Amino acid sequence: MKIICIGRNYAKHIEELANEKPEHPVIFLKPDSAILPRKNPFFIPPFSDDIHYEVEVLVKINKVGKHISEKFAHKYYDQIGLGIDFTARDVQAKCKEKGLPWEKAKAFDGSAVVGEFYSKEDFDLENLKFQLTKNNQLVQDGNTNEMLWKIDPLISYVSQYFTLKKGDIIFTGTPAGVGRVVENDLLVGTIDGQEAFHIRVK
Ligand code: ZN
Repeated sequence: MKIICIGRNYAKHIEELANEKPEHPVIFLKPDSAILPRKNPFFIPPFSDDIHYEVEVLVKINKVGKHISEKFAHKYYDQIGLGIDFTARDVQAKCKEKGLPWEKAKAFDGSAVVGEFYSKEDFDLENLKFQLTKNNQLVQDGNTNEMLWKIDPLISYVSQYFTLKKGDIIFTGTPAGVGRVVENDLLVGTIDGQEAFHIRVK
């Protein structure tokens, strides 16, 4: 399986990182080795002093598809979830400065937290609240109604470049409030009030 991540999908997050609003969705990939095994803590990797959390709504693809039209995109997923796109912001800044790819900053081992999945039927996907707390303090407070590109257009766009396969996961971008983690932080993600994951930083 592969993980497809969308960057810059929430206006306020684009502003907080002083990025330009993109004309098309920004896409990058993480390999399956990026998935943090369930119940494991997240270990801060030795190559970064500035690891950021980014809470994101996840979409799990349920069948193979290519060149999917927006109209039929809803047939390609039944489940949604919540996760974290851990980012080595210092490494990413260097990559951006030099115009290099982001993989070292985004696709390293443990950088993809994948929480529980839920039936999409249980939620209003156009107006879905999700939150991240750090040490019991609210740090990210998102709603899918703030997405620049919604789930169905994203699936359609992504599938023009990459064949989607059963089990692939799309990370749909993070809202404002990203920030640094340090040892012993506890991150808890909730979707519509339900806990989707909790992660201890080591
Ligand atoms: Zn992200």
